[in-house]
Amino acid sequence: MAKIRVVGIGPGDYQEMTLRAVDALNACDVIVGYHVYVDLVKDHFPGKEFHTTPMRREVDRCNIALELARQGRDVAMICSGDAGVYGMAGLIYELRGEAGDVDVEVVGGLTAAISGGARLGAPLTHDFCVISLSDLLTPWETIEKRLECAALGDFAVALYNPASMKRRDYLQKACDILLRHARPETVCGVVKNIGREGEAIRVMTLAELRDYQADMFTTAFIGNSHTKVIDGRMVTPRGYRDV
Ligand code: SAH
Repeated sequence: MAKIRVVGIGPGDYQEMTLRAVDALNACDVIVGYHVYVDLVKDHFPGKEFHTTPMRREVDRCNIALELARQGRDVAMICSGDAGVYGMAGLIYELRGEAGDVDVEVVGGLTAAISGGARLGAPLTHDFCVISLSDLLTPWETIEKRLECAALGDFAVALYNPASMKRRDYLQKACDILLRHARPETVCGVVKNIGREGEAIRVMTLAELRDYQADMFTTAFIGNSHTKVIDGRMVTPRGYRDV
């Protein structure tokens, strides 16, 4: 039966790809993905055929991958981080539907919350949630509600898609919502270009994060009310020392 592997390649650095992802990419003959991700893996998988599509053409990209699989090609569809976290895994299943003519295998990867969290220290040691600020596919009112609930629940938060060219003030708007329930001194951090050229981290307060100019390759972290700075790193205690 035709088969497609949907592979999370991690944040960018080859060392942060899982061995299973490497095996999956070695096993396939065609790799399909957004050109930025293809560029990240290309040198490690010489001899493969690569198909790239621009951003925002996700349905086309998945249909190309499914079509190639139906033609009998061994296809891997790559996503950055994890393929199931704002990635293509769900869409591949949706487009394939119940037909069951293509076997789908999802290969998990290291999502930005985890790789970025490790750079910052240990911001996600207690309950946390992940929220994307992109309102391309989600109404802004829904995003607002989730932000408010996260702050009410005192969750640490990893914010994906904190800004783009057209959404310059979204991080500011998000911080204003969080500030309804969280203190301005709440410990926060940002990680840029994890595992890629220009990687950088910064620890700051929620008040400072509000004025931070993020870009689309940034993941922002908001601590919970117990998060502290230890030797310049962001640390959320789980409470081991309190028992
Ligand atoms: N599937 C990806 C997420 C895609 S959504 C994953 O699991 O990581 C795109 C958002 O993810 C970006 O706007 C950014 O917030 C975050 N992101 C993905 N890769 C990143 C990287 N290398 N460095 C920093 N943030 C990243």
